[in-house]
Amino acid sequence: MATAPVPTITGEVVLRLEEETMTMTVTVPVGPTAMIDLLPLANAATGAIVERATARAVAAGRTISCRAGCGACCRQPVPLAPAEARSLAALVAAMPVPEQANVRNRFAAGQAAFAAANVPVRGDRIFGADLAEMRVRVAAYMAAYVACPFLVDESCSIHPDRPTACREYLVTSPAENCRLPTPETIARVELPGSISTAMANADRDLEGVRRVLLIDSLDWVATHPAPASVRTGPELIQHVFAQLSKT
Ligand code: SF4
Repeated sequence: MATAPVPTITGEVVLRLEEETMTMTVTVPVGPTAMIDLLPLANAATGAIVERATARAVAAGRTISCRAGCGACCRQPVPLAPAEARSLAALVAAMPVPEQANVRNRFAAGQAAFAAANVPVRGDRIFGADLAEMRVRVAAYMAAYVACPFLVDESCSIHPDRPTACREYLVTSPAENCRLPTPETIARVELPGSISTAMANADRDLEGVRRVLLIDSLDWVATHPAPASVRTGPELIQHVFAQLSKT
């Protein structure tokens, strides 16, 4: 028996980000909506923001260093909103068996390497700390030099589905500096707003959890069932975009 289509509503969202204004046409469910349902929209919004910021950087004479096949930044801790962690776990679960086994093995090997280096992989252990402590922990994470489980031959194997934090990371400093970046050696393309942070802040309100580390995401999802949706699509999108103005 065919299932009835989910009623949706379409409208325009105006994003005011610093001096930038962007208008997006969005379609969301009318009824209860989970954050994971907004990820395609979050990715589209991130793409639009990054595109504008890139154009501004290029117009200012800067050259984007990021290239296909450069995975220099893919040893950094990747923070995910809980909804993104669930999306990645679903992506892995849907992979063909051999590929899925390889990915799960890389997650396990990465976690073992961090454990051997005595580096925590829980998001709240790294990003929940005060700024000084967070810098120490992030530096320790990067010093362990463990590649993201999705990095294959220095390319992202899930590029169309990569997290928003990865989409937002662009630099004009030498690419090799991303291997062990410091504020002095990295020139990031500044964004007028961060969808990844807005989603994380919105998810904190809904789930009480702000950041999940990518390397911990499969384990975290296995022990954190998705909460029931308590907001309608329009309410949720308003909540996320309200957070965007604070990023
Ligand atoms: S998800 Fe892809 S882009 Fe992001 S860190 Fe992993 S390999 Fe790199």
